[in-house]
Amino acid sequence: MTPATRTRTAVVDDACAAAADQARSAAEGAAGRPVGAHQGFAPEGDRLGTHFFAATDPAYAGWRWAVTVARAARARVVTVDEVVLLPGEGALLAPEWLPWSDRVRPGDLGVGDLLVTAVDDERLTPAYAAGDDLGEETVALELGFGRVRVLSLDGRDDAADRWYDGAAGPAAPIAQAAPAPCGTCGFYLRLVGGLGPLFGACANEYAPDDGRVVSADHGCGAHSEAAVRAESPDRVETLVDDYRFEEVTVGPPPLPTAPPGGSVDDAEAGEPLGHS
Ligand code: SF4
Repeated sequence: MTPATRTRTAVVDDACAAAADQARSAAEGAAGRPVGAHQGFAPEGDRLGTHFFAATDPAYAGWRWAVTVARAARARVVTVDEVVLLPGEGALLAPEWLPWSDRVRPGDLGVGDLLVTAVDDERLTPAYAAGDDLGEETVALELGFGRVRVLSLDGRDDAADRWYDGAAGPAAPIAQAAPAPCGTCGFYLRLVGGLGPLFGACANEYAPDDGRVVSADHGCGAHSEAAVRAESPDRVETLVDDYRFEEVTVGPPPLPTAPPGGSVDDAEAGEPLGHS
């Protein structure tokens, strides 16, 4: 028979409960600033309890100072045991810690960074365990060729799903507007191996996906057979219509002729010329 576990409710010690001012002083000493309202007292054990005060630091909204006070047996003096800042309800908290291996995201790797691949990374498998041709694998292994690990089937499927569903797949807007799929394009370099039927690399420097893996049903407007380049029209001589003509004046235009007798009426009085 399992003995029953007995728990004893802590009794409020009057002296500890009354030491709110002493606890406040301790909290303000630790905070280096006034603390907020008293938020209660919680008994912790015999002659032991904690006073709570609201933190006033704007960086700690929702936090509170917890000051634990105690009294020795048969003593009247209450002493401060501990002062800590604790999160209250609704306190702003840092997100739960995650190991870096769970936090790293595609695109995080920078120049000079090293990304360690876990020994049990399920995207990889020992090289001797992958491949379609057993004879080829055996020979490669015996000769010591090949890599230590290669893509596992899971890793390959993940990559294929990612590429196919991404910007290099058939659903990309540029592929939807393409005149024809990559699989029929002269710039399409088909991958070798298991992904060959579905993926290749684009080798058109004018295409947005140049140098990237694209699916065979991706596409873009730079498809090799998209359009025949229009040639410039032949230069033709100037055409002269010699059935109709109009008369034009050849040479300098005639000078305007002055009205007869000059521009001043003979009947007008003469103007003074300013000399005698
Ligand atoms: S040029 Fe366009 S259609 Fe041709 S392979 Fe590259 S992305 Fe595909």
